[in-house]
Amino acid sequence: MSIAQRPKPEDMSHVIVVGGGPAGLSAALFAAKNGLEATVFDTDDTWMHKAHLFNYLGVNSLDGSSYLDIARDQVDDVGAERHHAEVTSVETTDDGFAVTADDETHHAAYLVLATGADRSLAEELGCETTDEGTVDVDVTMETSVEDAYATGAMVRAEEWQAIISAGDGAAAALNVLTKEKGDHFHDFDVPADAENAMAAVVDDPEAESDDA
Ligand SMILES: Cc1cc2nc3c(=O)[nH]c(=O)nc-3n(C[C@H](O)[C@H](O)[C@H](O)COP(=O)(O)OP(=O)(O)OC[C@H]3O[C@@H](n4cnc5c(N)ncnc54)[C@H](O)[C@@H]3O)c2cc1C
Repeated sequence: MSIAQRPKPEDMSHVIVVGGGPAGLSAALFAAKNGLEATVFDTDDTWMHKAHLFNYLGVNSLDGSSYLDIARDQVDDVGAERHHAEVTSVETTDDGFAVTADDETHHAAYLVLATGADRSLAEELGCETTDEGTVDVDVTMETSVEDAYATGAMVRAEEWQAIISAGDGAAAALNVLTKEKGDHFHDFDVPADAENAMAAVVDDPEAESDDA
């Protein structure tokens, strides 16, 4: 049954994302941009604050903290909710998942874990792990627990790169969107979509071509 068909209590998000590094923010961006209510909890201990990006395709040189500023604004602009809070427990419920942060419990139909190399919440939830101790996922990033996804550094032994984490988060959100909206959801935009899709953050392409 899709989210739209389920009774949804007011305190329930469609998707809760735990972790606000590249993986979690990318999942939130794709989910919220495409109409899902996405809530992110993050403690801001991301490695990105130590990094300087020279290897992120399409970006020549960018300080990791500046990357986060841009990514957070982008996620906020599409309507995702972000909270600075530590998630202390996750469990399955009849409707999806219960997530506790700051002594408050929040509910969601889908859960995206993006907690970097800390795999403790995935283990608590009962997600299967690989022989290397990483969380076991397929290319959709779904874990052995239905509708729970694991992304980024938690699903890789050592190959930790920002662009890979961002890709994992996107893959997880696209799989959620496919489950909710139908076969093989694509988040494909063309220049003519700019005004409707991202009016607040994208310049009018016609205005740009007038200037050229
Ligand atoms: C010194 C250094 C330099 C690097 N340089 C580069 C580079 O040049 N290029 C590159 O591509 N990569 C670089 N990396 C690697 C890159 O930073 C990581 O690959 C990337 O940050 C992983 O993203 P992630 O989203 O999977 O996890 P993280 O970025 O680690 O994000 C995880 C987030 O989850 C939060 N979190 C964890 N547990 C909880 C919880 N229970 N509740 C709420 N929030 C929680 C953390 O606070 C954190 O903000 C570098 C790393 C280091 C250490």
